[in-house]
Amino acid sequence: LPQSAEPAPPAPIIRKKLNGYVGFANLPNQVHRKSVRKGFQFTCMVVGESGLGKSTLINTLFNTSLYPPKEPLPPSAERPQTVAIESISADIEENGVRLRLTVVDTPGFGDFVNNEDSWRPIVESIETRFDSYLEQENRVNRQKIVDNRVHACLYFIQPTGHSLKPIDVEFMRQLHNKVNLIPIIAKADTLTDDEVADFKARILADIAYHNIHIFQAPTYENEDEEALAEAEEIASKIPFAVVGSDHFVKTPDGREVRGRVYPWGVVEVDNEDHCDFVKLRQMLIRTYMEELREYTNDVLYENWRTEKLLKMGVVQDQSVFKEINPASRMQEERVMHEAKLAKMEAEMKMVFQQKVQEKEAKLKQSEEELYARHREMKEALEKQRLELEDKKRRIEQGRPITPEKTNQTGRKKGFLRT
Ligand code: GDP
Repeated sequence: LPQSAEPAPPAPIIRKKLNGYVGFANLPNQVHRKSVRKGFQFTCMVVGESGLGKSTLINTLFNTSLYPPKEPLPPSAERPQTVAIESISADIEENGVRLRLTVVDTPGFGDFVNNEDSWRPIVESIETRFDSYLEQENRVNRQKIVDNRVHACLYFIQPTGHSLKPIDVEFMRQLHNKVNLIPIIAKADTLTDDEVADFKARILADIAYHNIHIFQAPTYENEDEEALAEAEEIASKIPFAVVGSDHFVKTPDGREVRGRVYPWGVVEVDNEDHCDFVKLRQMLIRTYMEELREYTNDVLYENWRTEKLLKMGVVQDQSVFKEINPASRMQEERVMHEAKLAKMEAEMKMVFQQKVQEKEAKLKQSEEELYARHREMKEALEKQRLELEDKKRRIEQGRPITPEKTNQTGRKKGFLRT
């Protein structure tokens, strides 16, 4: 064989400093221009009992009145019996960058007497969105894929100050590998700073105990110190204790702020000393929106897709996905079914034979017992016959029979009256 059959050593990477300007340093600008032109798309789900301030927070986060103020239901109104899934979309623009924001609301969650399966319609909605994306990917023409997948789920925890409730744990356990979970302590202005700190610690302990995976700000190896510090700061605030308010109020020092007025002062939404709203917005919109989208696509959707395709009988060989054609799959299944039937038949035969053998052995034994009884009876009869003959002989000879054989009247049995 020629020497060249051996694998070639990897080509060395030549690192050179360019003398002239070629222009690829402009690549980030190209990406930027294209992204701005295309716009961005983000879908956020909000889950939590009604009245926890979900609509208010969404309006506060995106500075829109996406949700009109809700009228509380009159006492006589018929209340819905199931969790509903409702989406609202809006195109918002900031400095020429367009964002198509979709908020998926889940009214009814946790509002019933029995909330056992409240999570189910939500999981189904997330999976249906994955299904729709997969179906579009598999189309012949996949130029225009509409991405309805949920990129983040804000889970509103009631500000009880205790720990997570069973419904919170169950929801997060069911959802954590399908969506980026972002836990939020709702209406944090109802708790003191110390209560918030204790509550956060207990929630985190519960989350760790139940092995729930919540979205973590990612950090990369060669990231600058500023980015690392920012990621750390955001991480230290999870679960975010937030206050929502979409209207402006006047502070005692005369500033106009978004906040809530109390007899003892004003809680400012955008003040980091008052609540974690700013950090939540930073995580969700300013710093990690792209990461949330990427993690949804690369990890959550990918895992779900692999599982789904494997269940459908699509197997992955070394490098490519190979789909088994349905006919050969059916043939394979038939062969397997036949083998199973043959095995069952053989087992049944074996059991049958065993039973027959047992029965035969039993019959043989009772036959032997019968023979033995027959022999015994025969011997007894023969003995009786001999005795009678003996008696007969004695009588004929006029001799008495043995004295111990007497009948009930005390007469000797062998005496015959003549
Ligand atoms: P949703 O049913 O979860 O969408 O809740 P809403 O956003 O409709 O809010 C229900 C009520 O709670 C409204 O009266 C809001 O003004 C109030 N609210 C909203 N956010 C907060 C908050 O952060 N703190 C307090 N104290 N009240 C809030």
